[in-house]
Amino acid sequence: MKTAVYPGSFDPISNGHLDIIKRSANIFDKVYVLVSLNPNKKYLFSESERVFMLKEATKDIPNVIVEASDTLVLDYAKKVGASVIIRGLRNFIDYQSEITLFQFNRSIDNSIDTFILFPSTDNLFLSSSSIKELVMFGNSITDYVPKGLDEYIATRIKERTNK
Ligand code: ADP
Repeated sequence: MKTAVYPGSFDPISNGHLDIIKRSANIFDKVYVLVSLNPNKKYLFSESERVFMLKEATKDIPNVIVEASDTLVLDYAKKVGASVIIRGLRNFIDYQSEITLFQFNRSIDNSIDTFILFPSTDNLFLSSSSIKELVMFGNSITDYVPKGLDEYIATRIKERTNK
């Protein structure tokens, strides 16, 4: 049984994240989507809101489990018996941080490998920040976030950015 962990901030979830989750779920027996703590980031959505959005978006994918953790991703992976960490790679900026993260993780535990997926074309330019910007400047996010979550996401962004 091959188990993988897909960690991230998901602040908020985008169709880019969901695409990576769906494709990973087709490859691995079990995928843990992990809302993890990045000490360098300030979040707009609470941990439980990010877990809620991910659970909603993946409710029809039986081999996906959503959780949150404030431990090292590697420790979480070991706890759930995962041997692979999944990441998405959009561009050279991602490349630089992902390869650093990969090497950091390998230096701590080389029994856990990293699996990189490129975005599908529609999601190449999509990020959690671009979703926030679209809402702040009064644009629709319906095409960029999982079905049924656009209102939920837009309302909270507006509320918290006074837009
Ligand atoms: P982090 O806080 O770790 O950067 P994010 O929530 O921004 O987490 O993203 C989690 C993972 O998903 C990262 O590997 C990121 O590169 C990837 N990702 C984010 N947006 C997209 C997208 N549009 N297409 C593919 N992968 C993406």
